Amino acid sequence: MRVAILKETSPLETRVALMPDAVKSLIGQGMQVTIESGCGARASVSDEEYTRVGANLSTVRGELLANSDVIPVVNVLPEADQAKLKSGAVMVGFLRPLDGPGALQAAVSRGATMFSMELVPRITRAQSMDALSSMATVAGYKAVIMAAEMLPRMFPLLMTAAGTVPPAHVFVLGAGVAGLQAIATARRLGAVVEAYDVRAAAGEQVKSLGAKFVEVDLGGIQTEDKGGYAKELTPEALELGVQLITKTAKTSDVIITTAQVPGRRAPLMLRKEGVENMRLGSVVIDLAAPAGGNCELTKPGETVVHNGVTIFGPLNLPATVPVHASQLYSRNVNTFLALLLKKGELNLDMNDEIIKGSCVAHGGQIVNERVSAALKAHSA
Ligand code: NAD
Repeated sequence: MRVAILKETSPLETRVALMPDAVKSLIGQGMQVTIESGCGARASVSDEEYTRVGANLSTVRGELLANSDVIPVVNVLPEADQAKLKSGAVMVGFLRPLDGPGALQAAVSRGATMFSMELVPRITRAQSMDALSSMATVAGYKAVIMAAEMLPRMFPLLMTAAGTVPPAHVFVLGAGVAGLQAIATARRLGAVVEAYDVRAAAGEQVKSLGAKFVEVDLGGIQTEDKGGYAKELTPEALELGVQLITKTAKTSDVIITTAQVPGRRAPLMLRKEGVENMRLGSVVIDLAAPAGGNCELTKPGETVVHNGVTIFGPLNLPATVPVHASQLYSRNVNTFLALLLKKGELNLDMNDEIIKGSCVAHGGQIVNERVSAALKAHSA
């Protein structure tokens, strides 16, 4: 079984799909691993670190594509690469099958079996394969570090001979994986932190991190689905949150927004009026930017200044922390691969909930209903 690790092609991508420890484990299971020279360079991993654990080195990408049985990736391969895949090759990565299913067509035509890390079901058995949570953890941390860098104030309370410096006030919208990490990071830097979430269960977690949970009475409506995720709110319930956020913005130096509803556009919660309530120099980091943003003024991928408030909508914060983002991602992918491989051979048990749930294409066809529907909607 041949495994290839390729250089990511997007200029903004710095992560690598597998780190040397994962490569060592695959080789230990009897696989041959070849890396494209330089694949780990932007994540501070040299070719030597891979060859030291037994990987082969290649500079001929086309050969790697044509000869490999398994290709773990961070992002979808470009169309020209997909067309060179060995027939029936297995690809695993963030394939964006619901946002951009058309970008997978060339690999589908090559009969590739594709697994999307985004579609790994969030069940207890799959926790160690949950790459979305890993990347959300990195993004939540980095959002606060960036905000601290952009804010013209310090975060901690300081009592000095020259007087007292008050702590920064950070408001976090959405207390899921990214939000909780943002809260913990802002607290470590000494900020006073408040957070809002529609899921009442998030309240205890927020408080356990030393932050205040701001609540609004939604009249006892159901805000969570069976899987523990937020449901899309009615416009009336959403508006109650917006009012609370607009008010809390007046006393916030930094707002980090992370609210998402799986499969939907991110809810618009921080309106222009809320931003205009913030004082000069304040910062908004909108982690929901890839899903349209939680702030009305967010331009995904850009920095906007409105009335002296800086609003940044990053699209790939994990790539700004490539070592640890790659390390976590690599462990998630490696655990997932262990499920696909038995004694060094591919063993695709399509009755396994995790394998079935994350499989996008097999045998020359899209096999996931949501992806087929997304493909129809995109081509309509
Ligand atoms: P997410 O990225 O989908 O959403 C982020 C947060 O936004 C969530 O906490 C959500 O409640 C909140 N939100 C959505 N709409 C909102 C609104 N209108 N107003 C305020 N907040 C709003 O969620 P996530 O971070 O991926 O995780 C959500 C939950 O799932 C968490 O409880 C997490 O611990 C749990 N989870 C479980 C597993 C697992 O069991 N394997 C894995 C990951 C996450």
